[in-house]
Amino acid sequence: MRFTLQHTDGAARAGLLQTDRGSVETPVFMPVGTQGSVKAIEPRELREVGAQIILGNTYHLYLRPGVELIEKTGGLHGFVGWNGPMLTDSGGYQVFSLSDLRGIDPDGVHFKSHHDGSVHRFTPESVVDIQRSLGSDIMMVLDECPPYPCDEEYAERSNQLTLKWAARCLDRFSATTAKYGAGQSLFAIVQGSVYGRIRETSARALVSLDFDGYAIGGLSVGEPVSDMYAMTELCAALLPAQKPRYLMGVGTPQNLLESIGRGIDMFDCVLPTRNGRNAMVFTRRGRLNLRNAKFTDDLAPVDPECGCYACRNFSRAYLRHLFKAREILGLQLATIHNLSFYLWLMNAARDAILGDRFGAWKESALRDLASEDQAEAH
Ligand SMILES: [Zn+2]
Repeated sequence: MRFTLQHTDGAARAGLLQTDRGSVETPVFMPVGTQGSVKAIEPRELREVGAQIILGNTYHLYLRPGVELIEKTGGLHGFVGWNGPMLTDSGGYQVFSLSDLRGIDPDGVHFKSHHDGSVHRFTPESVVDIQRSLGSDIMMVLDECPPYPCDEEYAERSNQLTLKWAARCLDRFSATTAKYGAGQSLFAIVQGSVYGRIRETSARALVSLDFDGYAIGGLSVGEPVSDMYAMTELCAALLPAQKPRYLMGVGTPQNLLESIGRGIDMFDCVLPTRNGRNAMVFTRRGRLNLRNAKFTDDLAPVDPECGCYACRNFSRAYLRHLFKAREILGLQLATIHNLSFYLWLMNAARDAILGDRFGAWKESALRDLASEDQAEAH
């Protein structure tokens, strides 16, 4: 993988991430394909809405259908029918958030499957091996994502463990090779909860190990948004300019713009897909809840300025009808639109950065995003 920093505008960055399976222009939003499927949208539609890279979740895929089956199809790309770049997480986050019984020790973590209660174990080495078998273009290290709130002493201990695990992941990564021809890279994850001192220790230690890229984890887990921005800004400033930066699990359109302004290149979040399936659509003027009665005979497209398939062909009233009638097409169209909007937002941000007008564009976009949100609140 090669990352080229193409242009900066203040702290905001435009870059190009080149993998053996294709190039990714940054800033980029990565749709989440938890179970090997971005919910309610087909791979060919993902191409059409402009997705450049998608996510897969190691924890879910490891438990079901299992790596052996995925290996038989030449890895995750072949299994799920997506030939572009993919990123997989290490599974750590889901172990800590989903599995019933878990035990953490210096060597790794054991957990009970949330499907059938069977006991499994992840170590730094095993999650690298699993991601080698999945064949993702970007792999993530095993980390512990501390809950919020957590006291400083816990965050400190957790961070020491995360740093040791990161070094072991890198050793395993260096000692193994890609299984399906296309190269793979490994990103580290900066942790440290809302404690600047620990975040700094984490970032400096991981940078000295020289990973292919750096993620900032453990944010958007319930902390005040001001803490999220402060930690993002602090970490980004400590990370090398020539490596990609990925803010994990964030967030709203507003969060994305604020974080791009603090030097972030990559994002993933279930918000556009999950909210779309709940009849909540994002527009340039803010969020709309299509279940709201005021859309009953609203024949305007979801977002009049959007050029997606859903907005070109259907009205708010039709989407509202589909949701009321529990028709599958409602989920599909809302997903197509929401992802189109998120990907448009990233492209517009990139254009603004390349044109040295990111600051003014961001302020204007944030004002627009606030208009419907306020109307809905009243
Ligand atoms: Zn649209």
